[in-house]
Amino acid sequence: MQVGNGKSIVNGIAIGKIKIYKEPERIIYEGIVDDPAAEVARFEAAVEKAIDQQTVLYEKAIVDAGKDIAEVFMVHAAMLEDDDLQDSTKEIITGQKRSAEYATKVGFDNYAQMFADMDDPYMKARAADIIDIQGMVLDNLMGLDSASMQGTEPAILVADDFAPSQTVKLDKSLLLGMICIEGSSNSHTAILARSMNIPALMQCKEVQDDWDGKLAVIDGKNAVVYIEPDKDLLDTLKKRQDEDRKKEALLQELKGKPSETIDGYNVHVYANIGGPADVGAVNQNDAEGVGLFRSEFVYLNSKEEPGEEEQFTAYKRVLESLAPKLVIIRTCDIGADKTIEYMHLDKEENPALGYRAVRICLTRKPFFKTQLRALLRASAYGNLGIMFPMIISVAEVRECKEILEECRQELLKEGYKIADNIQIGIMVETPAAVFCADELAEEVDFFSLGTNDLTQYTCALDRQNAKLEPFSDTHHPAVLRAIKMTIEAGHRHGTWVGICGELGADTTLTEEFIKYGVDELSVNPKSVLPLRKAIRSIDRSKLLAK
Ligand code: PEP
Ligand code: MG
Repeated sequence: MQVGNGKSIVNGIAIGKIKIYKEPERIIYEGIVDDPAAEVARFEAAVEKAIDQQTVLYEKAIVDAGKDIAEVFMVHAAMLEDDDLQDSTKEIITGQKRSAEYATKVGFDNYAQMFADMDDPYMKARAADIIDIQGMVLDNLMGLDSASMQGTEPAILVADDFAPSQTVKLDKSLLLGMICIEGSSNSHTAILARSMNIPALMQCKEVQDDWDGKLAVIDGKNAVVYIEPDKDLLDTLKKRQDEDRKKEALLQELKGKPSETIDGYNVHVYANIGGPADVGAVNQNDAEGVGLFRSEFVYLNSKEEPGEEEQFTAYKRVLESLAPKLVIIRTCDIGADKTIEYMHLDKEENPALGYRAVRICLTRKPFFKTQLRALLRASAYGNLGIMFPMIISVAEVRECKEILEECRQELLKEGYKIADNIQIGIMVETPAAVFCADELAEEVDFFSLGTNDLTQYTCALDRQNAKLEPFSDTHHPAVLRAIKMTIEAGHRHGTWVGICGELGADTTLTEEFIKYGVDELSVNPKSVLPLRKAIRSIDRSKLLAK
């Protein structure tokens, strides 16, 4: 038996034959061509087809993995439409009299290198996207279909790495598991595997060509793959797989049941979403509401700044389809890792500590007012909460509320209906907000702890920097203490307190949060039922008596 180790993405067990997934062989003619104009036309047709393919992938990814993840294909379409990329590639065809394939190879490689040389980790990571779209254009030019590389039998696929477009194209009914020799736990492939709930190992360096066709078991919990395990081990792992499946069925039975502890302490379990396309996932997973609608995705999805009508339509759709459930929409949290060209934001030395979120909104008042007007108008169609991100002071909250009030007065004069029960809250994601929680609680109806940023700022650990993984401790006592302090401060002033960062879904901390008295946990839709199960197994009175 051979054993491989890696970074595990999904905890389940996958059992099946290994299929080594190899890129189609692309043999590129490097000589001079007679008819460059014909090559330009072939290149244009291949790019056009690749753009259409992105739309198909986007729609498939929405169903398989959700809107946030599907967005990568819209980014790919925009890259394919990029004039600089297209012109520099065509220039190679006409200037050097080369084939469309050769020009795509060289032109896209140059472009990818340009991204790879950038300092900003987000921009650096875009090099992989260029290589992904390059593969699609080449396949279109050469009449290759990389999807056919999956084969026709259910299998555990092994590759150096999978591009997002390859992952989405895979036939899920034949995909038992994935093993990558490269790939980080934050890569798009990992994110896709996680949301499709497919056991996957990244960075498994022991892969051998002779694994192809052999029976293998991925044990996600222990981050191991066994090749041709002996009968005893195979039986044990099969038993665990059966138990996992039974657990999944049990989760489904929790739909419609309250998220309350054995002794009747109720915690609202809400979902985090990125836009109207995620409403289906909220309902499928029986979330009681939305605790975080990251409205910046409405901005990121748009080629230009979305106007009041466009935003109103998006917010109204979510509110209307989920009414009477509470939907908390966070105002635009642009900046740091989420940059948008049309915002013309300066490059900064420390973007995570920089000009972002309310700092942008409060200094670009017309921009902020457009969103607040859209939100207020949409409030008439459901149960809205408005939440301000990256708050560090009472003055900021007051200013946000004043601008909101200004918008309300304007809209009422214009004859619009506005709900009178809109809850106002802030993200508590900076140490400053934690330390000023008593004063801030006086200003708002609710707090939502953004533990992703709170951990980054409390521990001074850049959340974007993969090199820092060994130093990061998601259960750092300072972060847990900050959460406890915030909940207690909120409750002293009648302000309810939730958690919407990733930590909220960590069921190893659910007891702790319930002990602190958390009122709400907002998690990715797939974590709603496992979290409900964890809550229902806890007896809070026993925890408090300890
Ligand atoms: C957070 O910081 O925990 C959070 C929920 O916001 P985001 O991850 O969008 O920064
Ligand atoms: Mg945040």
